[in-house]
Amino acid sequence: MSKRPDPGEQKFYRKADKEKDYKKQLPGEDEEPLPAPTEPIHSDQKPNRNDPCSCGSGKKYKQCCGKPK
Ligand SMILES: [Zn+2]
Repeated sequence: MSKRPDPGEQKFYRKADKEKDYKKQLPGEDEEPLPAPTEPIHSDQKPNRNDPCSCGSGKKYKQCCGKPK
């Protein structure tokens, strides 16, 4: 078995592969959009520093439990 590939045919395939790779680099419909940036989860656990403290003291959080030691 010594079947040689047709030079012309081979050229055609190589060109098709090149076009395929080129299309792959372009942002198309197949590309998934970037996920929306999400806020860190731990930010929800911290109350607003200017909000009344959650401990019920009536003070602002930054002047109560949120007070820097
Ligand atoms: Zn407090």
